[in-house]
This record gives sequence, structure tokens and C-alpha cells, in this order.
Amino acid sequence: MASNLTTPEETTPPTIGLHGIIIGGSISGLSAAIALRRAGHRVTVLEKDSTITEKLSRGFRIAPNLHKILCEWGLEAELKEISSKPKTMNMLSYNNGTYLGSLTWDKEVLKETGGEFRLTTYSALWSLLYRETISQGVCVRFGTKIVSLKTRSISPSVSLESGETVYADLLIGADGVNGLTRKYISASAVPPDDHAHNDKSCGKDQPAYGEAKHGARIESAKFKMFSASIPKKSIINDPQLAYLINRRENDMFVWIGHEHSAIGFPSGNSSDFFLSVYGLESGVQARDLQHVLYGAESSLLKLSRIASETFSSLTYAPLIHESVLETWVDGSLVVIGEAAHPLPMAPF
Ligand SMILES: Cc1cc2nc3c(=O)[nH]c(=O)nc-3n(C[C@H](O)[C@H](O)[C@H](O)COP(=O)(O)OP(=O)(O)OC[C@H]3O[C@@H](n4cnc5c(N)ncnc54)[C@H](O)[C@@H]3O)c2cc1C
Repeated sequence: MASNLTTPEETTPPTIGLHGIIIGGSISGLSAAIALRRAGHRVTVLEKDSTITEKLSRGFRIAPNLHKILCEWGLEAELKEISSKPKTMNMLSYNNGTYLGSLTWDKEVLKETGGEFRLTTYSALWSLLYRETISQGVCVRFGTKIVSLKTRSISPSVSLESGETVYADLLIGADGVNGLTRKYISASAVPPDDHAHNDKSCGKDQPAYGEAKHGARIESAKFKMFSASIPKKSIINDPQLAYLINRRENDMFVWIGHEHSAIGFPSGNSSDFFLSVYGLESGVQARDLQHVLYGAESSLLKLSRIASETFSSLTYAPLIHESVLETWVDGSLVVIGEAAHPLPMAPF
């Protein structure tokens, strides 16, 4: 996908004063890069992975607030091409599939939110943002892992794993919930674990991690989330499941149960139906989707069977409640996205 991954900085729009380093090149990092560049600042994005592959096959709901911003950036037409617009979210019982009700994205609701609710894939959204980032003249460097930061120095900087130091006026932590920058925010920061080497490379102006006021990291170890991309054609060809795609193109489905839930949707342009399941780990085979789905209605069980039969892409993540940060700023560092406010557990 991103082959020539180091890109030259271009000259449009014109640069004024500040240089911002963004740590993390996912959705938040690229969005922040576009916003800063549009405001005329020089921006460098440093992403530790050499390609963004992990989350590529995941379905992605674009909430109205994101849609609104993308439209403001002139990306409405491109966004339409990569996404579909569901009208309704149907709610079903997790245990027996009974229809419980539905939520419709009425005109009044959309007017209030100021944007549309759309469905796409992580891959398509990331690519759209990446193209825009590059066209704005942002320098994106892949395979560059940050190992420490100087946030309170008069010359803020980041140190890369390679030993290189990059200086900037502003550091933006968009490195996700398990990233490094969250740990530099003094209030409620997660205690250091295996990052001992970072302490050595921190400047004297830097508070040692041990001095930070550590909040609890509430590990919801029992809860797991699975995401699967299942070929649409294998669903359409199954009379029991065809309603998920045929009944009303692009509708979303939410299954609600006690300590379990699931969400499924077909994204208009993708050949896959996306399913995410949230449930309790109740045994040794925690990574087995069918095991987590024990007791679920037959459509969900069938979807999980198809997912394993068709070798559908299946990802698994333990759900961890990070403590809430009391501030998102430390010196010249600001944290954004999942680094600032990790994903809550509910599927909607
Ligand atoms: C299964 C699942 C489904 C989701 N579905 C939706 C949805 O439908 N709609 C929605 O709005 N959101 C959804 N989300 C949340 C959404 O994916 C995130 O909010 C989004 O990815 C933005 O996250 P981010 O950019 O802040 O962090 P992340 O996506 O976590 O990215 C952090 C980036 O920082 C990089 N990084 C980490 N450490 C370093 C380092 N030391 N140096 C350099 N780079 C580093 C990582 O490699 C990564 O690329 C979903 C999340 C999950 C897990």
C-alpha cells in the first residue's frame, strides 16, 4: 500500500514558524498532520511500522463529526467513493436474534450532528488521509520508532530507536493506547514497564516516570473483542443470513446481550461484511471466536463458522480500560486520539 514511504516535504501551503512532530501515523496522526499543515505549519509524521497493515481489513464507521471535518477539508467526493451510507441500525437479541428495534439516521439527527454517518474500511480511510497528508506536503517517515521524548526542554525533541534525534516546536502523541507519549503525561500515567532504557535517554528537564502520579490501569482482562471480515458472497448465498445484506443494503446490525454484544455491517464498496464481537473470556480457548460466541443466536454462530471456513481475517484484542488522563498536555507535548481517550468498550 504505502510503498515509497518516505516522502519529500513540499511547499504548499506556505509554511509559517512552527515545526510539529507527530508520533504515530494512524488515523489521528494523519488527521492532525493535515490540520496543522492547513494552518501553515511544517509537519513530520514518525510512524514505527514500515507499513500500516495490522488494521487494514477492519470495517470502520465514520461518525458525523469526522465526516464533517473531512468535508471541510474538501474530501467529500473522495469519501463518497470509499464509503456507503446506512440509513438504519437494527438491534437484535444476542441470545435468540429477536428484533428489538431500530435507530434511523433521520434528517433532523443528521442536521444536528452536521455530518453523515458512513461505513468504510480502515484501509480506505487511512489511504484517503495518507494521500491528503502527502498532497499537503507533510513528511511521513515509516519505520521510525520513537523511544523517548524531551517535552519540557526549550528544544523539544524525540529520540528514535536508530539513535537519531529530531527537534521540533511541538510534539503530538498520536501513538495509541499502548504508545509511549501517554506515559509522559504526568497525571494518571501508566507506570513504566519494560521501557527502562527510555529513562536513561530522558533529559534532566524530564520528570522520571517514577515521579508521575500513576493512576490505575484497570485491566478488563475478561473482556475480549474479535473483528472478522467475512466475504459478502458467502453471506448472500446463505438463506439464513442473506437478510444481513439483502434486506436493506448497508444497514447495520447490533446484537445486544448480557456481557456480550456484536456489531455487523457491510461497507458498500468492500466485498466483505464486518463483524465485531465483544464478550467474556470464559475458558482456555479465549482466542476462539466460536468459544466466545457460546450461547449466541444461530446467525452469529453461523457467521463465525463461515469466518473460520473461509479463512476470513480475524483479529483479536483484549479490552483494557485505561485510566482517564487528567490532562492531555505536558510541556510541548499534547496527546490526541486513542493516546488521549482510549476506545470505550461499547460497540456503539
Ligand atoms: C476492532 C476495532 C474497531 C474499531 N472501529 C472503529 C470505528 O468503526 N469507527 C471509529 O471511529 N473508530 C473505530 N475504532 C477506533 C479507531 O481504530 C481508532 O480510534 C483510530 O485507529 C485512531 O487511533 P489513533 O490514530 O489515535 O491510534 P492508533 O490507531 O492506535 O495508531 C497509533 C499509531 O502509532 C504508532 N506508534 C505507536 N508507538 C509508536 C512509537 N513509539 N513511535 C512511532 N509510532 C508509534 C502505531 O504503529 C500506530 O500506527 C476501532 C478500534 C478497534 C480496535
